[in-house]
Amino acid sequence: MKRIGIIGAMDIEVKELISSMVDIKKETISSIDFYEGKLEGNNVVVAECGIGKVYAAVCAQTMILKYEPDLVINTGVAGSLSIDLDIADIVISDGVVQHDYDASPIGIPAGMISEINLIKLPCNEELVKKLVKAAEILKETNIAVGTIASGDQFICSKEKKDYIANTFDALCTEMEGAAIGHVCYINNVDFCIIRAISDRADGAAHMDFDTFVEIAVEKTIMLVNNFLKQESAL
Ligand code: SAH
Repeated sequence: MKRIGIIGAMDIEVKELISSMVDIKKETISSIDFYEGKLEGNNVVVAECGIGKVYAAVCAQTMILKYEPDLVINTGVAGSLSIDLDIADIVISDGVVQHDYDASPIGIPAGMISEINLIKLPCNEELVKKLVKAAEILKETNIAVGTIASGDQFICSKEKKDYIANTFDALCTEMEGAAIGHVCYINNVDFCIIRAISDRADGAAHMDFDTFVEIAVEKTIMLVNNFLKQESAL
């Protein structure tokens, strides 16, 4: 049976998944909590990584070396970069970019990752399709598939938001997904990021985030649970 890795940055993003797990074993490595066990009939390892790309990368690399997941899903919330995506809508990544990875002053395109020579790291198409199918359970929710942009910044200004949207053609922005994607890519592990919109990455984002983070997270939990149900039925 496959082992599915699930990473969330914040406690609120993973606590419901962890509380539904059985045969659970907890281990803390480099200050990150990993929970191994069963969820909806699948072997899973769920981790709460902390905020930002470094924690996310440490978590993904540790998870891959220690628990050998066949695929890694990063679940959580994000700021919308598209007028078509509002609070609690869902973005499923077909690829990830790091909007703060930038050597453009020396002639390298913004976001271009050294050694890999790609800006957008692609997700596994089959996995994306499965997650889109699982998202059908969400009623009255826009489901978009596209680029997710990550960086070590909480984006809350029109200027930065427009820069990320226009430079990378991204649908939403957050702080971990592309780091997890980068680690998975160099380890040859399938990955996908699912994010529910908690704010619009604009001047009101810091207030909207606090107000809407909970209802956004609920959507992602329903999606992840439904994906796991689909997987165990295979
Ligand atoms: N309250 C948290 C900090 C949250 S930072 C604490 O106390 O530690 C925001 C988190 O939500 C990050 O994990 C990021 O991935 C996501 N996020 C939501 N909206 C965002 C935005 N507008 N810009 C960047 N990240 C955002």
